[in-house]
Amino acid sequence: MKPLLLLVKTCLSKLYLRFKNPRVNRCGECQIQSNLHGAEIAGNAVIHQLISFLQMVKDTDLTGEVWLVPVCNPMGTNERSHVFSSGRYCVYEAKDWNRIFWYYEKEADDLIAFAKSQLHFDIEVVRQNYLSKIKDKFGELLDKINSPSSVPYTELFRYQLQSLSLDADYLIDLHSASNQGINYLYYFRNREESAKYFLLEHGFLLDKYDGDAFDEAFIKPWLALEDSFQQLGRKIKFDVEAWTLELGTGMQMIPDSVAKGVRGVKNYLIDIDVKIKYALSKPLIRRKLATSLHSF
Ligand SMILES: [Zn+2]
Repeated sequence: MKPLLLLVKTCLSKLYLRFKNPRVNRCGECQIQSNLHGAEIAGNAVIHQLISFLQMVKDTDLTGEVWLVPVCNPMGTNERSHVFSSGRYCVYEAKDWNRIFWYYEKEADDLIAFAKSQLHFDIEVVRQNYLSKIKDKFGELLDKINSPSSVPYTELFRYQLQSLSLDADYLIDLHSASNQGINYLYYFRNREESAKYFLLEHGFLLDKYDGDAFDEAFIKPWLALEDSFQQLGRKIKFDVEAWTLELGTGMQMIPDSVAKGVRGVKNYLIDIDVKIKYALSKPLIRRKLATSLHSF
């Protein structure tokens, strides 16, 4: 039996696909998106191959959900200056498409007080309670969007894209350089162990950078709450991870970059505990990991 493939809704790219084991209710959810910077098309090829891969997976081997958003920024993708794609910036607002996202932690009232109130709760209960707070605050953005004055397009866009990912546990944002670039990833503190599963030679730790990027907006509220618990003497680590993969050169699908992106994402999905596991998990790939992380 094949995993359930749903065209969930027509939004953004009209290709928002969800793979889910129909026999499983709540489980890990991973959102994989590409084209946030419209000129960076390597991720489209990666997701195209992932669709074929996921269609081959037996439903019994898929215990999580994988959400694919192949063209997450159609406006950016369609921008052109002569024959060139200028899709890194929203030309009407002079804003980088990946520096516009909304952070819960910047608007949170008192994280320490919240952590105190949750100090003795099970981690999954804390997660759900915190997610509810994030969703409530995020929902307030809609008031402004629906007001007579409304909001600039980038704010409308960010609302739509972030609303897709609020429930996700894992985020993989596929990019490339705007010009020429190598293959690498960005990762966050306390998530180094998982970074190695992408099998890339190079990675950059985003420990201080605060650029309103999508991956930061996704994971930083959780890192901030982990810090608050730490201050109160409880070590806690949520099963929430965010990654930005940079796969070669802009406006190109370099076969080597695409192949490394597909290989890394597959391997990562296999590794996310048992929540998302695939029949194609090969011990050979997993054993290679230990030697592939020397640059982290
Ligand atoms: Zn980019």
